[in-house]
Amino acid sequence: MTEKHAAARGEIARRFEEKRTRAESAAEARRAALKAKDPAFSAICDEKESYLEKILLAFTRDAESAREELSTLRASHAELREREAEYLKKQGLSADYLLPHYECEVCGDRGYVDGRMCACMRGELNRFLARESGLFSLFEKQTFESFSTDGLSEKMRENFDFCREYAAEFDPRTSTNLLFVGGTGVGKTHLSSAIGRAVLEKGYGVVYEGAMTALSAMEMERYAEEKPQSARLMEADLLILDDLGTELPGKGTVSFLYLLINARLIANRPTIISTNLSARELETRYESRLFSRLTGEYEVLLFDGEDRRGRE
Ligand SMILES: [Zn+2]
Repeated sequence: MTEKHAAARGEIARRFEEKRTRAESAAEARRAALKAKDPAFSAICDEKESYLEKILLAFTRDAESAREELSTLRASHAELREREAEYLKKQGLSADYLLPHYECEVCGDRGYVDGRMCACMRGELNRFLARESGLFSLFEKQTFESFSTDGLSEKMRENFDFCREYAAEFDPRTSTNLLFVGGTGVGKTHLSSAIGRAVLEKGYGVVYEGAMTALSAMEMERYAEEKPQSARLMEADLLILDDLGTELPGKGTVSFLYLLINARLIANRPTIISTNLSARELETRYESRLFSRLTGEYEVLLFDGEDRRGRE
């Protein structure tokens, strides 16, 4: 875990603590207000609390002698809870009125369930890291809404709809890999950014990198003991690798690319790759084992049309 990651975790944990406390204090305040308004309700609450104390006291005593007493105490406590519930109903209040209203019902805003990080906290953490890294602002202009669909070919219209649906239904366990093939300025980067943003908003970890930067980062870490950049590329819920083919050609890059693509395939993590190269150029440039991965394990979307830059 990088230092930045650890700091982000600390910050998110603090926010969770804060919102949990807020929900719990609000519940306490609702009870206090109700008690202040109605002495009858106040009596129920006080009695209930006194039973709770007696139950706790009984627990601290020798278990054998307290057993009988405990069951009577529990029954009285349960009866008071029922009276409380009835009271709420009569007042036209919901059954959970006096309970804390947590944002996440799964973890009660604790962020963890059975020692594992809850999806809600993972989402917060991913969004936080994306905002910190500037990824959100990178995606800001290139959204589905800002993609001009005027005069699109039927093929491009299909691509647009496909991408929007892909983003809406994104799930790292089930989403496919995509290969965007087409000339410069036909909207590949725009649509992959739009997917990236939507997936980020869903709370998944997204890494967006130019192929050249990504592959040289991997090469730099070749002999390093720690490989944080490579791990980042390999472990993101969604990796968007932009502009494949612009990286420096050579055996080294091809093997890093293969390594990356293969690692993600094995781990079942979706990747979106865009390239200006034609299918023939891809085949010439990359080894056949890499080419067969790209064509066999990726859904290919062909982008056509005129250069869109300047229209957006
Ligand atoms: Zn949760």
